[in-house]
Amino acid sequence: MNIIWARSIVSLLLLALVCAAIAAVTNARTALSFAIVALIAQTLFSTYHTERLWRLLDAPVYGEVPSAPGIWGEIYYRLHKLAKRWHAQVRQVEQQHSRFIQAIQASPNGVAMLDDHDQIEWCNAIAEEHFGLDAKRDLRQHITHLVRHPDFVRYLNSHQYDEMLVMRGMGEKRQNVLSVQAFPYGENRKLVLSADITELERTDAMRRDFVANVSHELKTPLTVLSGFLETMRDIPLSEADRARYLELMDQQASRMRNIVDDLLVLAKLEGDAKPPSDRAIDMRAVISHLQEDAANLSAGRHRFAFTADEDLTVSGVHTEILSALGNLVTNAIRYTPDGGSIDVVWKQVGNEAVFSVTDTGLGIPAADIPRLTERFYRVDRSRSRDTGGTGLGLAIVKHVLQRHDATLEVKSEEGRGSTFSVRFPVQRTMRRQAAHA
Ligand code: ADP
Repeated sequence: MNIIWARSIVSLLLLALVCAAIAAVTNARTALSFAIVALIAQTLFSTYHTERLWRLLDAPVYGEVPSAPGIWGEIYYRLHKLAKRWHAQVRQVEQQHSRFIQAIQASPNGVAMLDDHDQIEWCNAIAEEHFGLDAKRDLRQHITHLVRHPDFVRYLNSHQYDEMLVMRGMGEKRQNVLSVQAFPYGENRKLVLSADITELERTDAMRRDFVANVSHELKTPLTVLSGFLETMRDIPLSEADRARYLELMDQQASRMRNIVDDLLVLAKLEGDAKPPSDRAIDMRAVISHLQEDAANLSAGRHRFAFTADEDLTVSGVHTEILSALGNLVTNAIRYTPDGGSIDVVWKQVGNEAVFSVTDTGLGIPAADIPRLTERFYRVDRSRSRDTGGTGLGLAIVKHVLQRHDATLEVKSEEGRGSTFSVRFPVQRTMRRQAAHA
């Protein structure tokens, strides 16, 4: 017997006892009347609470526990406990759901969930960006009505999702490349994942270009070398011709050596850790080294003016800075006809250290300036080669400067000359006293 039956039986027994007592004191009629009134009161009480419970179940108000005496109080309390447990479970599921959504939102990939009719059920912000969707507005819309790219429509309708699809011409400027793959799940539903591979494709194209360029650059001197070798093998040459051919072959060999050396420098720069920002470079030594090398290379063909703030220095790697700044001075000499002048200035501008080389040379067309630091880019191919250039000098300069947080600025006017300025930021700039301390 459970508590409810026990309580009911006890109340009935109590009522019977009271009625018997009333009958003994008064008479049976009064006792019967009392019993009827008590039963009516009990029925009304139960009906009131049944109706209250009904209303409560119809429109539950969470957190409120209606008060009632006896068994009804107990029922309300138990209901409340049950509701509380459910509420906690719902909250837990909601939290898990929102964490799940947050995790998918944080994904660097686009995620779109499609129902069995390829209608959008949900998509994250990246998918919105990739496909130009609006998660709220486009909910329940057929995805191919919104993403009309023919390749995508064909892919989705093919039901062959083992391979990913590469979509070109995406994004606002139609310049992005997306990789997209669908994964079927559940009952005919699909998960569509997308990734922006524009950068990846660009670096891949750059890598291919680079390999093609290197091959081309090495092939030319190699062809010349083999030509000479063939000639020397097949044709009897005079001593003078032989010496001249050997000289020319030597030039081609050193051209190849220079290219390989520069490529190795670039590879090393790319692989090395960033230079320390607390090791001061001896800029006095760098400047005097540059001055000496410039005089040797020019051999009196140019007029030089070196102006340097002797106490100004920067932090980083001595050899790298010497090679980068040396490259700018060498270029100024190589691209300035005899009789021209070259000014080198090392000074502090604001909180920054600036190294600039100004020449009165050939100058550079405005359209070429942004491309100067590309590997093997040359404005005038033959002049570069004639003066022993590899087309990699400014690419090396760019790398060295990037590693030292510095920037390169080029101002030039065709036929009048150029200024190449290197700007070291405040965190790399030091005064000598401070550097010693
Ligand atoms: P290169 O070995 O051909 O000199 P760089 O990377 O050093 O390669 O320079 C790239 C190109 O930039 C050069 O081929 C040249 O056309 C141009 N250039 C660089 N410095 C100067 C300069 N001071 N005056 C004119 N043109 C320059």
